[in-house]
Amino acid sequence: MAIVDAKEMLLKATAERYAVGAFNCTNLIQMEAVVEAAVELKAPLILQASVAPSKFLSPAVIGVIYKTLAQSAPIPICLHLDHCSDVQFCKLCADAGYTNIMIDASKQEFSENIRQTKEVVDYCHRLGNISVEGELGTVSGVEDQVKVAEDEAQLCDPQQAMAFVEQTGIDIFAPAIGTAHGVYKTKDPRLDFDRLKKIAEMINGQKPRVPLVIHGGTGLQPDVVKKLVSLGGSKYNVSTDLKHTLIDTTYAYISDHRQEYNPGKIDASVKEAIKGRISYWIGLLGSAGKA
Ligand SMILES: [Zn+2]
Repeated sequence: MAIVDAKEMLLKATAERYAVGAFNCTNLIQMEAVVEAAVELKAPLILQASVAPSKFLSPAVIGVIYKTLAQSAPIPICLHLDHCSDVQFCKLCADAGYTNIMIDASKQEFSENIRQTKEVVDYCHRLGNISVEGELGTVSGVEDQVKVAEDEAQLCDPQQAMAFVEQTGIDIFAPAIGTAHGVYKTKDPRLDFDRLKKIAEMINGQKPRVPLVIHGGTGLQPDVVKKLVSLGGSKYNVSTDLKHTLIDTTYAYISDHRQEYNPGKIDASVKEAIKGRISYWIGLLGSAGKA
């Protein structure tokens, strides 16, 4: 089954109050690990690639890997382009088989954010069942090509959120509520739960219409994650955790096996470690058994 529309997948999650894990991958081993873990737990899945790995491997290669993995998997899987601020590259990835595109024009003025987001929405909807995620307000930290200082980050205004959703026609919405990319400096970051609750009620209160995304998912405490999901976050992004797992596991393996020259064994150890992290997140998000 496997290749599906992200909006449909996330509307179900919104209605049933769980979140689909959206996991950033930079290579084939990570993608395989994420898919295998989700299959074992029967969880719907969003594979994500941000702009740098999409350019490094090329959208065409990522698109083919995704299709190959997704078509044979017994769970629904989407391929999402994460945080792309370049309208043309968004279109290129949509052409290459990504099923879900995030245009991140959140650093632009409100009207320009709407204009660029709508251009991508119109293009993707003309092309077929390709859903589009837009962002309003800014998430601090560094995600690939997008850098936002903590004091520059702006939380999403609920009234503007309604206008943004309606005027752009986006399928999925990322409101900035105080989460951050990268590693949190404190164990207890200040998140604006009330803001998320209000936005969720305004947009999805009558019936689920536009699923909400939580960015900067790494490093939040389990009770915080569950609260964000219960308040209406139904796509939960995890990137930093998987980068650290990849690099730390590779480093540890090579340190312990300095005289061994067998790349397959490094890959196998990375795969197991990533699968462990994905199982953790899927358990927390409540998406196991929902495929
Ligand atoms: Zn993000």
